[in-house]
Amino acid sequence: MISVTDALHSISSQELDPKEEQRSVVDALGATLSKDVYSPIDMPPFRQSAMDGYALRHSNDMNYRLVDESQAGNDASPKMSARDVVRIFTGALVPDDADTVVMQEHVQANGEEVSVQKMPKPFSNIREKGEQIEEGGLALAKGTQINAAAVGFLSGLGLGDVSVYQKPKVGVLITGNELQSVGAPLKKGCIYESNSSLLKAALRQTGVSDIEMLSVLDDLQSTKDAVKELLDKSDILLVSGGISVGDYDFVKEALIHNNVEEVFYKVNQKPGKPLWFGKKASKFVFALPGNPASVLTCFYIYVYPMLQRWMTGQSFSSERILAKCTSGVANKSGKTLFLKAILNEDGSVSPQGGQSSAMMHTYALSNVLICVPEGKKQVHEGEEVECIKLPL
Ligand code: AMP
Ligand code: MG
Repeated sequence: MISVTDALHSISSQELDPKEEQRSVVDALGATLSKDVYSPIDMPPFRQSAMDGYALRHSNDMNYRLVDESQAGNDASPKMSARDVVRIFTGALVPDDADTVVMQEHVQANGEEVSVQKMPKPFSNIREKGEQIEEGGLALAKGTQINAAAVGFLSGLGLGDVSVYQKPKVGVLITGNELQSVGAPLKKGCIYESNSSLLKAALRQTGVSDIEMLSVLDDLQSTKDAVKELLDKSDILLVSGGISVGDYDFVKEALIHNNVEEVFYKVNQKPGKPLWFGKKASKFVFALPGNPASVLTCFYIYVYPMLQRWMTGQSFSSERILAKCTSGVANKSGKTLFLKAILNEDGSVSPQGGQSSAMMHTYALSNVLICVPEGKKQVHEGEEVECIKLPL
């Protein structure tokens, strides 16, 4: 059995082999750039008016003569002399001869006669060519996560595709004789199978969409076959249940049979002690103890950081904050505890009542996990504890 710290270190020190792919800018939402992106154009590509108004040459004389118009999308630069103005609109090309745009609210126009009521500073209301980014400039660096603004920015530069880290293909194997699909009344002795939905939701929340699922009974041969099939298809395999020491737990044997090398088995933690982690070439396997709360906690603590690292090409550790605990917690087990808890608006944290690894009701209402380290026998009321924020 290893400590939580060693288990985390063991996982984070595994070399990953994330692949890159070209994706359309809009489909890259949520992905991370695997290469620097340089701008193919100046942005703006020409001197643009930032206002609806009048383009002119700045002076202290406020009277001008209207000579032409520049509408957004027009390509001509009207000729103008020192006393001329050109009617101009937001986004339109500013005539080469003009240095300032006066907003229309500060102008009185009467036919050709234009009188400026309030002259702005020279060069006002003009977006200079390349002021946002120049052609060849670094638009977004490798490692940037693409949000909606980045999609807009890159599209505005005329970019169609970008190079991003490929999301991993994740296999999920569900084991257990007692599990029944949702849709029919429960048979005696059975429970509804929920870890497949739970893991699918947690994976989707992480941004993983390529998920292959299989379910098997507690049977060695079927487990071996399913492990083989899913390992062939995925980069990371998650197994639910069957990894404890019961007579019908066949997952470990099935993994070893498929040449998955054990990295560690059993972590000094509650919940999720029988967690098994292994690898086969560039693929990784997390065999998660089947109780739903163990599955989810092991996912957040161990699987999530690896997925993040895979998808961003960067090291990752979950965000931890300190908060005052509103009640005392005894830890006689000597294990690291991960407690479902609510981070309150006043910044304090309240452990939930139902901490059993089978209880999902309290998990559904939690927004953090309190981490009580092994060896810490008692958390006193009002004492600061470390909390790991759960993704919303
Ligand atoms: P196991 O790790 O296979 O010994 O399972 C531990 C507990 O989790 C048992 O009470 C199982 O019935 C329950 N369990 C295992 N797999 C699932 C699942 N897919 N959905 C819901 N509960 C499960
Ligand atoms: Mg089982």
